[in-house]
Amino acid sequence: MSLIVQKYGGSSMASIERIQHVARRVARTQAAGHKVVVVVSAMAGETDRLLSLSGKISSKPRDREIDVLLATGEQVSIALLALALGEIGVEARSLLGHQVKIVTDNVHGSARIHTIDASPVHECLDRGEVVVVAGFQGVDHEGNITTLGRGGSDLSAVAMAAAVKADACEIYSDVDGIYTTDPNMYAKATKIERISCEEMLELASLGAKVLQARSVEFALKYGVAICCKSTFDDGEGSWVLPDGPGGSMASLEGAVVTGIAADRQAARISVTRIPDRAGAAAELFEPLGREAINVDVIVQTAPQDGHCDLSFTVPKASAKQAQQLLEGLRSELGFAEVRVDDCVAKVSIVGAGMRSQSGVALRCFRALGQAGVNLQLISTSEIKISVVVDERFAEVAVRVLHDAFELDKPQGERKGLHD
Ligand code: ADP
Ligand code: ASP
Ligand code: MG
Repeated sequence: MSLIVQKYGGSSMASIERIQHVARRVARTQAAGHKVVVVVSAMAGETDRLLSLSGKISSKPRDREIDVLLATGEQVSIALLALALGEIGVEARSLLGHQVKIVTDNVHGSARIHTIDASPVHECLDRGEVVVVAGFQGVDHEGNITTLGRGGSDLSAVAMAAAVKADACEIYSDVDGIYTTDPNMYAKATKIERISCEEMLELASLGAKVLQARSVEFALKYGVAICCKSTFDDGEGSWVLPDGPGGSMASLEGAVVTGIAADRQAARISVTRIPDRAGAAAELFEPLGREAINVDVIVQTAPQDGHCDLSFTVPKASAKQAQQLLEGLRSELGFAEVRVDDCVAKVSIVGAGMRSQSGVALRCFRALGQAGVNLQLISTSEIKISVVVDERFAEVAVRVLHDAFELDKPQGERKGLHD
């Protein structure tokens, strides 16, 4: 008998019929002789609906109350799924974050998990019940409800799998695995059977929504293997393997480019004619860091006439706040202006094989150039190249890069970088 954690996301819980479908899947797993812990998200669109309600009441709602509000989405889901399971003869018990005791810090909206007391879960499992846990939520040390950031039910599932020492952590959604790029963006995307946590972490951080980045980070840290599957078929799915024997095999086999991600939630900020002196960049980024604004793709021009320009991306939702904070430094730092463009997208190619191969950047830039896609910013790390482009070209960029690296073909049939 093995212990399996299954997570069903918003699209899998989108209607009563879908919840009943999920219940039948869970029942089948239990009938096959397994203990099952199910983690669920709010019904599709519910978290956004709740957020918009708060926006109608307050222009600057307090984070604590937002968490109380948003956590209700998952509360509805666990109750409905437990009821649906009961209707088909499966004993099931729903548990909220504070009942499992998923204890987090007090950073409302993006809380970090400190501990999980798995004993209430084990007690239910030992009685033969299926346990249905509310994803996305926890409780801080003072008993306040917290949430783990958008897409956070993935993190709840991986953390539960680590806490109960599950044999498998299965993440179910409307796609049957992890693809070379979002299959809803490019139909030629192909399924990846196995991917290392390292590569998946990059893809998820760079916009591949199929897994929340923090869940992959957690899986890497605690050695949890994740299998991404479809709620709507019985396919094999894709494995995300933490480093270790399986994980290294995934990366050793790894293609030069494993996948492509697009992030349309980015804005580009440029600060122009900054007097060129030591410490200027630190002073610029200090208020952004203080407000926990995530900065990426930082590019500084070479100094000219004692001045330089600095450009970077921030999440679109933080662009206005970042602009105001930077404007506040203008007289002190003596730069010319702060420009914001929130009609940009960040498109990234990721692959562990890039470490040891030359010519990746050339092929990437040539393909984009030939397609007429202008590159506003470029940044690279060992296993990724990101470019910032006009938002209108995001889809074209993904497609031409997918074609240029022949990601529609099986790995062994792709031509080398210098062929
Ligand atoms: P859930 O609601 O179950 O959490 P999500 O909508 O968060 O599911 O994630 C599934 C979606 O992720 C898919 O519908 C797909 O459009 C998107 N996606 C983005 N990148 C990828 C990728 N590389 N592989 C598979 N799906 C991807
Ligand atoms: N309901 C939350 C969200 O929409 C958490 C999740 O779905 O994973 O972000
Ligand atoms: Mg999701």
